[in-house]
Amino acid sequence: MEYTKALADLIEEFNKFPGVGPKSAQRMAFSVLKKSTEQNQKFIEIVRRAKNEIKQCEICFNLCSDTICEICQDSRRNKSIICIVEEVKDLIAIEKTKEFRGTYHVLGGLISPLDGISSADLNIEPLLERIKGHFDNDPRGLAGTDIQGLRSSKNLSLPGVNDDFESKHNAEDSQPNNDSRGLAGADIQGLRSSKNLSLPGVNDDFESKHNAEDRFLQDPLELVFAISPSTEGEATILYLKKVIKRLELDDNIQMSRLAYGLPLGADLDYADELTIVKALEARVKL
Ligand SMILES: [Zn+2]
Repeated sequence: MEYTKALADLIEEFNKFPGVGPKSAQRMAFSVLKKSTEQNQKFIEIVRRAKNEIKQCEICFNLCSDTICEICQDSRRNKSIICIVEEVKDLIAIEKTKEFRGTYHVLGGLISPLDGISSADLNIEPLLERIKGHFDNDPRGLAGTDIQGLRSSKNLSLPGVNDDFESKHNAEDSQPNNDSRGLAGADIQGLRSSKNLSLPGVNDDFESKHNAEDRFLQDPLELVFAISPSTEGEATILYLKKVIKRLELDDNIQMSRLAYGLPLGADLDYADELTIVKALEARVKL
């Protein structure tokens, strides 16, 4: 005997959720049937409201109820540091540490050819616009840009180099910052060695030295890749480094990634070999 069509459809829908197998989907479907009509109506209403009211921040793609999220609106946040994460849940994880005072950019996934996810499916184009906007004194990176258009432009090829931008970036105009590494007070080595998972963005010295006259007196920008060290993560970081370098802002952009290695409290003999190798590579001076 098979399930009636309506029940089979319900099971199938639950089965589509990530991490839900056929058995769990079946249990969830039966649970729905057991609930009262009011309870199910309430559930449907909550899903509908969440879908209607939750938006994506136009700058960083965090989830929020407004067009710009609280983090991007917060003037105390260091806009010269952008932490690039895969999903909103990663942003939340970093926020929970209360150590990071920069801003974020949510990619919405990782490049994964096997799953059919290419760079065009991610929020990479808006990130590049945002980086350019930083040096154009347009903190949102939205100058002349139709955000909706950007979002829907899944088929846009990545901007190799923006001609307009490139033409302005000539040797005469360029006034390299005294801090050629673009670290301006954010001591990356120090951060790496910190046991407290200190993330950059906390340093007041890094705060604004804005000069509307000259884009190259704009704060250097630090990009922190907080992306899982998986095959997809590595491919995404490599790709991002490549397209960001094409912007030819190397002197003004510092790129870093979270160190990988042993989790706090871990036993060395329980760690796998690759983790130990990576931890050795990322060893810090005492
Ligand atoms: Zn935001």
